[in-house]
Amino acid sequence: MKKAKNIIKKMTAGLVKSCKKLGNVHVLSRLVLIVAAVMIVVAGVVVMFSKPARQAVMEVVSPEHHTVIEVKSGDTLSKILSAQGFSINDINTISKNLKKDADFATLRAGRDKFDFVRKNENEPISKIVIENGPWNRIEIDCGTPDVWQCQKIEIERDTRIAYKEGEIAKGSSFYLSAMNAGMPEGIILDVYDLLAFEMDFERDIRAGQKFYVLYEENYASNKKVDNGRVLAVSFDALRGNVQMFRYVKENGHAGYYDENGNGAIKSLKRTPINNAKVTSGFAGKRKHPVLGYTRAHKGVDFRAPTGTPIPAAGAGRVIARSFNRGHGNFVKIRHNATFETLYAHMSKFAKGVNVGTMVRQGQIIGYSGSTGLSTGPHLHYEIIKNGVHVNPMTVKLPAIDNLDAKTKPLFMEHKKMLLDKMALLKANPNMVVRLSDDAEQPEKTDNQKSKK
Ligand SMILES: [Zn+2]
Repeated sequence: MKKAKNIIKKMTAGLVKSCKKLGNVHVLSRLVLIVAAVMIVVAGVVVMFSKPARQAVMEVVSPEHHTVIEVKSGDTLSKILSAQGFSINDINTISKNLKKDADFATLRAGRDKFDFVRKNENEPISKIVIENGPWNRIEIDCGTPDVWQCQKIEIERDTRIAYKEGEIAKGSSFYLSAMNAGMPEGIILDVYDLLAFEMDFERDIRAGQKFYVLYEENYASNKKVDNGRVLAVSFDALRGNVQMFRYVKENGHAGYYDENGNGAIKSLKRTPINNAKVTSGFAGKRKHPVLGYTRAHKGVDFRAPTGTPIPAAGAGRVIARSFNRGHGNFVKIRHNATFETLYAHMSKFAKGVNVGTMVRQGQIIGYSGSTGLSTGPHLHYEIIKNGVHVNPMTVKLPAIDNLDAKTKPLFMEHKKMLLDKMALLKANPNMVVRLSDDAEQPEKTDNQKSKK
């Protein structure tokens, strides 16, 4: 560098000297010469500094060579590796190490990808990267022969929260209106499940009803990868505003709760009448006591003297209050998209219970009797799950989970935080907001966040 400076100095000095010698020449010619001198100096500097600069550029574009193989149906690890020239011995070692060090056993067609990396096109493979789902990557080190060290790398998940609001359009469903509001399908289906015990998405939907949903979006390196969980829902239903909030209790169990901290998922009772004795269980086939031939018993019979009040097994809407030859007087309740219950052989119905009536859990819907095909007073009780009769005694039912007095104040704080985030995102739709952010001082851009 010093040498270069000296050369420039000498060149400049020489030019200045020659300019001085040309003392008598016209002023304009002198100016031209000076400009020329400056240009020569600049050119010299450019030449001297461009050489190392070009080398630096060469290093950046050094051509790391990638061969990317997407796993197809029928592919095996050994098939993919042998196609890249790995020996049987190496394949066996890699396979063993993948299981041992990276907990990797099966390839998923259409999802997993192999990236065989070479330092440049002429070098042997130096690394194998298996893209194993959006949040996992396995790297196999091919640097030391016969070692094949495998390492599972978890991709850092940056969970941000998104907010969408919408309104039921005239003649439209919640599903379509939510799609129009830009809500992802998976989130819409989660909202269905969440509110299913509170409202009937077929009959309780009216144009103009507004809904608000807060949910997670998972990012990796500033790119959205997938959606997470629903964090909060608010729905202006027929019977008023329904709200649900996701809350993680101290024991780590997460659940959804309404604005008062009551469990969002309401359950059904296996035995609507407390302490009633089962006289006949659920059976795929049994000899019918009246008909005499073998047919399925699609419910459970409980001993109940005539006139015993029959409570609804869960909240829902009465969809049948009728009589038929088999069931006698019966009531059918739809609880949500999944569950219906049926109560048969009633002596009479409860007052005010009609088709369309919304009943709460425990509300008396009728009184036991022996109407229809029955040998004596009892309650015949059915649970229908997704249109199929299931055994009320064994079917897996959602758990009732209300928050206790100690947890409720913590939940209320969390609920306020979620509502604040909703308001924040409603006012600033493009703001990057995370659950862990302080709602009072939200970070405005990606750049600011990355400093953390
Ligand atoms: Zn029965």
